[in-house]
Amino acid sequence: MPEVEASFYEKMEEQRVKCELCPHHCMLKEGQSGLCRVRVNKGGKLFTLNYGQVASLALDPIEKKPLYHFFPGSMILSAGTFGCNFFCPYCQNYSLAQEKPPTRDISPELLTEVARQSVDDGSIGFAFTYNEPTIWYEYVRDAAFMLKEAGLKSVLVTNGYIEKDPLEELLPLVDAMNIDVKAFNDDFYRKHCKGRLEAVKATVERAVGMTHVEITTLLIPGENDEPAEIKALARWLAGLNPQIPLHLSRYHPAFKFSREATPAATLERAREIAREELDFVYMGNLQQEENNTCCRACGELLIKRNIYQVENRGLREGKCKACGSSIAYIIC
Ligand code: SF4
Repeated sequence: MPEVEASFYEKMEEQRVKCELCPHHCMLKEGQSGLCRVRVNKGGKLFTLNYGQVASLALDPIEKKPLYHFFPGSMILSAGTFGCNFFCPYCQNYSLAQEKPPTRDISPELLTEVARQSVDDGSIGFAFTYNEPTIWYEYVRDAAFMLKEAGLKSVLVTNGYIEKDPLEELLPLVDAMNIDVKAFNDDFYRKHCKGRLEAVKATVERAVGMTHVEITTLLIPGENDEPAEIKALARWLAGLNPQIPLHLSRYHPAFKFSREATPAATLERAREIAREELDFVYMGNLQQEENNTCCRACGELLIKRNIYQVENRGLREGKCKACGSSIAYIIC
């Protein structure tokens, strides 16, 4: 597929360009690539190198994104490319994010056709995931537009490090997002991700109310698991909407981090703290029996989950069967 001229950049003097897709605002001379490695200045214009370059494609349970309140129990076709605008040393998908894996050319038209065919296998649409979706922004935007025209859902699993204008152009095309809030302290973002917390918070605040949003925080021992930090994260989310689901995920050693996995007790303690502020808090990457959703009004079991096995036990037409309460933040 030919290289595609990027959106959201400014031409500067002496053939330099300034990328305005994400808050890094890379200033690039002729021939230079951005921090994400997938946007390059050629002849004073910014080009994207990974338009339609699919490095990984699979049919996944929607719970794997994780999205627990968006068509629970359904499947979704999922793809990623290569490159990232963060540099997390514990990245679980570093072979896509920080290396250059083999890819296949898949146009937005072909992707939409494949997504349409996957409906027969229980898929509701397409998830842009595995690596950071905003760094193949133009492709995601074009494909999401076609998916919408075809009546299919589009999902982003993102680090939220994107500027306001590109985000606001994309949001009307996106049906759900899982946004990683990697920590609720800016030191963590600066030290490990080479990003800033405030920019991620701004993305969450813009997305809530425009699309379905769930949040994931990977808890890493000694880095972002202090009770006061969990409390502050949950309180901020509750101020946006206490029904936003928060997924507290277990860290496992990966890439450059070799410290031990997060103890289950740390996750359980964090869940209890977050539950003081939020209605729905789940634990991820833990071989536990249950991660159920219960009615916040009467306690009735609504959705029973065992890893990726999902059963609707108590929801009918968006209401609790037992007490009739509306469960506004579950889309079925
Ligand atoms: S998208 Fe890439 S090139 Fe653009 S500002 Fe971000 S890291 Fe730099």
